[in-house]
Amino acid sequence: MHKDVLIDGWHAWRAWLLPWRCQLCGAPGMAGMDLCADCAAELPRNRSCCARCALPLALPTALCGQCQRKAPPWDAAWAPFRYGWPLDRLESRFKFGRDLAAGRSLARLWQDAPRPASLPSLILPVPLHRSRLRQRGYNQALELARPLGHALGVPVRHDLLLRTRATTAQSELDAPARRRNVRGAFALAARAQLPADVALVDDVMTTGTTLAECARVLRRAGVVTIAVWALARAPIPGSR
Ligand SMILES: [Zn+2]
Ligand SMILES: [Zn+2]
Repeated sequence: MHKDVLIDGWHAWRAWLLPWRCQLCGAPGMAGMDLCADCAAELPRNRSCCARCALPLALPTALCGQCQRKAPPWDAAWAPFRYGWPLDRLESRFKFGRDLAAGRSLARLWQDAPRPASLPSLILPVPLHRSRLRQRGYNQALELARPLGHALGVPVRHDLLLRTRATTAQSELDAPARRRNVRGAFALAARAQLPADVALVDDVMTTGTTLAECARVLRRAGVVTIAVWALARAPIPGSR
């Protein structure tokens, strides 16, 4: 309660000093957000998709053709947005332009999106290797996971799942090379205790190769139910 009062006071002070401005068009932003209502309405929502992998589809389905052919190593997916204009602009500023304000807007959009029916006991962001973390200065998945976990009342841990090997950016690779690139790149911290149900969080899900590799590590450690959560899902695998 005390903390909320402080946050409200801070928002009011900040709004007076520096009004919220839409990062896409420059119009006045919505309360507490660097995004206007019109631009937020234009963001592509992933309303109909595969329940298992969140692949955008014309109609919602329990299992898309790809999941029917080969089921992914997780149980359910949640990706409230589709990766496309103008969300991609905010995401690339956040991920590659050190624009943490864009990240805060994205985190807020995620928190306000319709939530999955069941929530996990723990959220694990997809980790960066320490060399990439040094270069970027922050892990974009953790920056999104932390406020999301807070809003959902689910703890977030970034010290349990680790990237033990530096990998090439997946966006530069084709599908078979993506799988090779991340194979064996993740491990659990020594003595990590995991609950039976966990959600893995990433910023954007493209082919899901990275999330699949993380899910296999969790499965081997005895996690029973694994959800993969991403802010946005790319419509066509490999299009990003
Ligand atoms: Zn705008
Ligand atoms: Zn699917």
